[in-house]
Amino acid sequence: MIESFSHLEQLAAGRDLADVFLETDEQEHGVPAAQILEALRKRREVMRDCVERGKNGGLSMGKLVGNEAKKLNEAFQSGRTFLDPLTIKAELYALSVMGENSRMGVIVAAPTAGAGGVVPGMLLALEEERGIEPETTVRALVVAGGIGSIIALSANISGAAGGCQNEVGVASAMGAAAVAYMVGGTPHESIHAAALALKNTLGLVCDPVGGLVEVPCVKRNALFAVHGLTAAQLAMAGVESVIPMDEVVEAMVRIGRALPRGLKETAEGGLAKTATGCAIGQRLKDEANQRRADRAAERERLAQERKDATTAAR
Ligand code: SF4
Repeated sequence: MIESFSHLEQLAAGRDLADVFLETDEQEHGVPAAQILEALRKRREVMRDCVERGKNGGLSMGKLVGNEAKKLNEAFQSGRTFLDPLTIKAELYALSVMGENSRMGVIVAAPTAGAGGVVPGMLLALEEERGIEPETTVRALVVAGGIGSIIALSANISGAAGGCQNEVGVASAMGAAAVAYMVGGTPHESIHAAALALKNTLGLVCDPVGGLVEVPCVKRNALFAVHGLTAAQLAMAGVESVIPMDEVVEAMVRIGRALPRGLKETAEGGLAKTATGCAIGQRLKDEANQRRADRAAERERLAQERKDATTAAR
């Protein structure tokens, strides 16, 4: 078992990082590498389909978001964007996935649904823009998953446990390590890419407006996909995290414990408690109450109809 990032660095020195994770999984869980790779080929396909569907937009369940990818895609196609195509595509694909998530479409949780746009945003944009073989992306998904699973040894991967640093922050670290791998980085560079990404999300709170994974979650995924790419770029240029990755994870856990309950997915703090956030939360509650009342009235009407029919039949 890989117990920590320092242990990973020892095991993986001079080796292919994906191979190290695949071998460990095979030894520990008896799952052959070929089976894991096949499963991840399917996940990559699901991610790609999701990105394509998501570009078309459509309102979310709470009607707060959903058309961000469509707008960015239109701007990109018509030459109204000013960032480089890799950055735009990372944002666009992350928004596409999160738009689908907000409409209850099929996505790949990476590591969670709420943070599910970051990894595909980074990896699929890079694959496309740099002409990288899809099989390398599949192996990069092994790396992303391996990094996430080491973090998960000491941290609960959920906004409810430690804030958004535990979701979007972890996704960004997983994606950064995977991107470094895709562009030929060493395990050392991948681990530093992950550390640079994660340490700069520490303290990120979970404050979903109305308790829905819509605001700020959808756009946050796009911004942190770019954050992860930046971390990977720095690591590939030889920039290292002064604080080792294991200690960054420890800091994340401590910060998560120290965060007040209102900033851990309860919708009782942060953006959810702004005037606009409260108004939206109230509207969503009123609409839910109205739907409940309508359903109860419908049940009552049907019961009355059945009663009337029984009486008429006598
Ligand atoms: S704000 Fe909370 S619900 Fe939204 S992505 Fe972050 S952790 Fe998930």
